[in-house]
Amino acid sequence: MRHCCGRIFVESGNYKGEMRALYIGRFQPYHLGHHAVIKAIASEVEEVIICIGSAQRSHELENPFTAGERYLMISKSLRDEGISNFYIVPILDVNRNAVWVSHVESLIPPIDLVFTNNPLIERLFTERGYNVRTPLLFNRKEYSGNEIRKRMLNNENWEVLVPEAVTEVIKEIDGLRRMKNLRRSDS
Ligand code: NAP
Repeated sequence: MRHCCGRIFVESGNYKGEMRALYIGRFQPYHLGHHAVIKAIASEVEEVIICIGSAQRSHELENPFTAGERYLMISKSLRDEGISNFYIVPILDVNRNAVWVSHVESLIPPIDLVFTNNPLIERLFTERGYNVRTPLLFNRKEYSGNEIRKRMLNNENWEVLVPEAVTEVIKEIDGLRRMKNLRRSDS
């Protein structure tokens, strides 16, 4: 990312009112890195479609939160910023990468641009002829789902790495206790 605020992705012209962009992630949980990127995309295009990947996964140490919980984290965080030009679509995994893009296409409106940090997703969408952009990761060392889940399990300060709404959702669903129970069953 060249700059956290302002115009950072679309190289030329003002695309507002013309473009619909796709951003895909697992959001386990949604953090300030995802939030910075999605806010910037939302400010530059007409609509952002946010796909919640691996929607079927939850109650695992790597994937503790359900698609519905992740939906709430994302929508509340963006609304708190006054952002409303987004749609959230949960996407189940399919067991064949070759058909995954068609699967995603069948669940979302037509898109003009794809943003992803996942090399496999970049490849799959590029092969289908999409314009794919890779946003630079923002403070990747700390804004990482893995780091946040680790801090949650170790009673370390994870709240500083997520939007306030995410902290509220995780507290409402008693997410820390869930994760600690998962660790017990895992060991
Ligand atoms: P991702 O969200 O695209 O992210 C890739 C990596 O970049 C992750 O380590 C992620 O870390 C990090 N990242 C993303 N945005 C970031 C940001 N703004 N700041 C800092 N770090 C950021 O990849 P993913 O989590 O693997 O999600 C892709 C989804 O697509 C998965 O659910 C996957 O199953 C699905 N998919 C399915 C198929 C299939 O079903 N055949 C094929 C391809 C992809 P964090 O952990 O911090 O988010």
